[in-house]
Amino acid sequence: MDTPSFSISPAPRIVFGENKADDFGGLVAELAGRDAALLIVADPGIPDIAQRIVKGLKGSGARIALYDDIRSDPMSRQVDGAAEAARRHGASCVIGVGGGSALDTAKFAAAIAPGGEPAEFYALAAKPFPNRPLVKICIPTTAGTGSETTRVSVFSTREGIKLWAWGDALRADLALLDPTLTVGLPPGLTAATGVDALVHAIEACTIKRANPLNDAVCYHAIRLVVRHLKTAVEQPGDLKARGAMQIAAAAAGIGIDNSGTGIGHAIGHALGTVARVHHGRAVGLALRAALAWNAEETPARHAAVSAAMGISTAGRRTSAVAADLGEAYDRFVRDVGLEVSLKQDGLAAQDLDRLVETTLAPENKPMRDANCRAPTPADLRRICHEILTAA
Ligand SMILES: [Zn+2]
Repeated sequence: MDTPSFSISPAPRIVFGENKADDFGGLVAELAGRDAALLIVADPGIPDIAQRIVKGLKGSGARIALYDDIRSDPMSRQVDGAAEAARRHGASCVIGVGGGSALDTAKFAAAIAPGGEPAEFYALAAKPFPNRPLVKICIPTTAGTGSETTRVSVFSTREGIKLWAWGDALRADLALLDPTLTVGLPPGLTAATGVDALVHAIEACTIKRANPLNDAVCYHAIRLVVRHLKTAVEQPGDLKARGAMQIAAAAAGIGIDNSGTGIGHAIGHALGTVARVHHGRAVGLALRAALAWNAEETPARHAAVSAAMGISTAGRRTSAVAADLGEAYDRFVRDVGLEVSLKQDGLAAQDLDRLVETTLAPENKPMRDANCRAPTPADLRRICHEILTAA
């Protein structure tokens, strides 16, 4: 029997539906109690949605405060600011509204607010979180990061280094998925965040800790992204496509929460540190350069990904099906509009040493080690060179 032993962690309660955000006071009262003090941590770029969420809380009797000092790739001081705002307000519940940055900040602030230590104290899961985190609700306005279903928060230190925190205290109590909240997301961000979900799903079902039960969730996420991302990019108001992408992102989040991510995220985080490349695009480009090489190592796992992507498998050898995956993935990410060249980000071949060194930093080790194929120094240089010179 070659099925590995595995364990599946509980997912947050997930509520899905169009316009659910307009009336969820009852749900909040159930989780946080009636008349609770709530802190909404919202992306400052979406004031209309933040107002809609405040209105949607009518009926909960809640006292509401808003914190919106968030930027893309949140800094530890913003997490500390949100935790301080939660303490000042006496909040028992923190509601994150926005993309991955807002959700990561909200979850992290809710986890550390009951203690006195700053965010960086908890970096890389080195120290346990305080007991009794505040109630956490995630309301994503993008479809990709999966923060609503993971136990991870990513943040940057004062020095600009991208780190992560992990633990049960970072699992949301409720993920509220309302596809109408994502229709305003511009095409470029729709594509980049959607590709992030695709990379989560592919990495989670191909890395060392992959397991068959979790794989099923990942394959479904891959099918949904392949079927619906282009429509979501080209027809932003298509609620069917937007809803399918939200489900894909939440499913892929469950996927990585149960098995992790691989080399795409190791190099992708390095691209974030080196040049602040958007996370979804960064991991998308990193996996683009590594996928065919990964597929050589574990053809059966990658042939299953090929099948989920719609590549014909009938009567063909597993290795041949797996070998098609790199090209099919490249075609897909270009087709949804992902810019593969990093020229506009100020990166070129001369940045190779810096990218390799940052990928080898300790914070990226768990992702490097989890990958299905261990890169030699020469492999890593070749993959990073391919990323920096892609056109
Ligand atoms: Zn990601």
